[in-house]
Amino acid sequence: MTTNTSSPQTATGKVYLVGAGPGDPGLITLRGKYLLEHAEVVVYDYLANPKLLGYVPKNAQLIYAGKKGGGLHAFTQEGINRLLVDHAKQGRMVVRLKGGDPFIFGRGAEEIEELVAEGIDFEVVPGVTSATAAATYAGIPITHRGYTASVAFVTGHEDPTKKFSNISWEKLATGAGTIVIYMGIKTLPGITRKLIDHGRSPDTPVAVVRWASTPQQRSVVGTLATICDVVQQADIKPPALIIVGEVVKLRSTIDWFEKRPLFGRRIVVTRTREQASDLVAQLEEQGAEVLEYSTIHIEPVDDYRIVDAAIAEIGSYQWLLFTSINAVTHFFRRLFALGHDSRLLAGISIAVVGRATAEELRKYGIKPDLLPEKFTGEGLAEALLRTEVQGNRILLPRALRANEILPEMLADAGAQVTIAPVYRNVPPPGPKEELRDQLLEGSIDVLTFTSSSTVTNFLTLIDAANEEELHRLLDRVTIAAIGPITAETIREYGLSVDIQPERYTISDMVQAIVAHYRTAARQAG
Ligand code: SAH
Repeated sequence: MTTNTSSPQTATGKVYLVGAGPGDPGLITLRGKYLLEHAEVVVYDYLANPKLLGYVPKNAQLIYAGKKGGGLHAFTQEGINRLLVDHAKQGRMVVRLKGGDPFIFGRGAEEIEELVAEGIDFEVVPGVTSATAAATYAGIPITHRGYTASVAFVTGHEDPTKKFSNISWEKLATGAGTIVIYMGIKTLPGITRKLIDHGRSPDTPVAVVRWASTPQQRSVVGTLATICDVVQQADIKPPALIIVGEVVKLRSTIDWFEKRPLFGRRIVVTRTREQASDLVAQLEEQGAEVLEYSTIHIEPVDDYRIVDAAIAEIGSYQWLLFTSINAVTHFFRRLFALGHDSRLLAGISIAVVGRATAEELRKYGIKPDLLPEKFTGEGLAEALLRTEVQGNRILLPRALRANEILPEMLADAGAQVTIAPVYRNVPPPGPKEELRDQLLEGSIDVLTFTSSSTVTNFLTLIDAANEEELHRLLDRVTIAAIGPITAETIREYGLSVDIQPERYTISDMVQAIVAHYRTAARQAG
């Protein structure tokens, strides 16, 4: 006989209130990230960085609950509470992702009260609140032995001039050394008035920081007397924090975030979807805002007959050439699919273009015999021509469509080259309009290209009707190319290359972009 202790089945889920941190997705806690990785439902806010949703399993349900911006699902607080309860009651693991810290002006407690009332299990994970982040990222220590020993977090949400306020401005004005005000941009005139009226010096320094810790961060500085004008002139809108106190003076020494070399620059990275981009990470490290466009989609070819035939008689080849990581990956995929392993290549000499390609090859236990100094197909051809290639059979697994310089140079020297397509580049349908708008309004600073096919596919993406339109779209933007072949392709479209590193590596390209702006800044005085 079976024992049945709980009938009917009432397994309920659990709700995790997770602080997303202030904006930079790197500022979420490890605990928060772990919970996102295990979520079945995520209810997220306007202020939580959408990049964090990348941690959520693909089959989880994502619900935008932003109370801001009037999106499709603009929930009321009651609506959000209901949502959490309903999903938990269906036995789901729910993450409620909130900007900053859930318990600092986040209405976290209200959501929990509802969960408690419904008997639903919950947990709370703190987050970096935007006040400390804004201060830190604006170069302002909110406490400092020499200036202040106390700090107050205040909401500016309620109108300070209304008759009965929940905030004792008269005590706060001189009672707290540093005052950090959330949600205070609209009520800033009333706030500064109150603080001055209740005895805080009009000369007290004030900073206002918008979108703290993100590439869009903007900060302005003034005094209690001037900050309203400063904010109005700079057109600072929410979300922003107001920091009042002598510590603001330290910004001139400590400011670090906005001083990074590429801060405030918006840079487009055109990359293949499959290749993790070092470029993005390195540009962000220098402070840039990176817009990633997956311009190339790598797909297998439909027809492997050429490569299969070559593999079947691999012993008759003297050289095997790889000019890209993708060529290596897709060649070996086919080799393995045919039931072979790397030992099949024991007797053949192997040459590659580029260190990254050589690295990839090492993953298959193979060290290239030839890695020319010049990281181009042409460089490889020149190096090969120094050996005796006449009459040699050379196998070149590569993209369906690619630059013909290498095989042509080798054929001219009397080699028998087999071009074996193992993958193809497919431009995906892209966010054309958004990109074109940004180019036209001049809000993109740099386009980066790491191969000829990224150029071709990027141009396919923006889809200019003719040369005139192409120039209208791209004339204001700075163009960076990783190496001479890529640069050549750009010029073939009648565009000019502004930045090109001496060595053809990602980090050299990033350094070249940094140097470009350093020079520009110097010239601007
Ligand atoms: N729970 C959140 C605060 C929510 S109240 C936290 O702990 O940070 C919303 C207010 O927070 C905004 O009006 C703004 O004043 C502030 N805020 C949130 N994120 C911000 C950011 N990245 N930069 C500046 N202010 C921010």
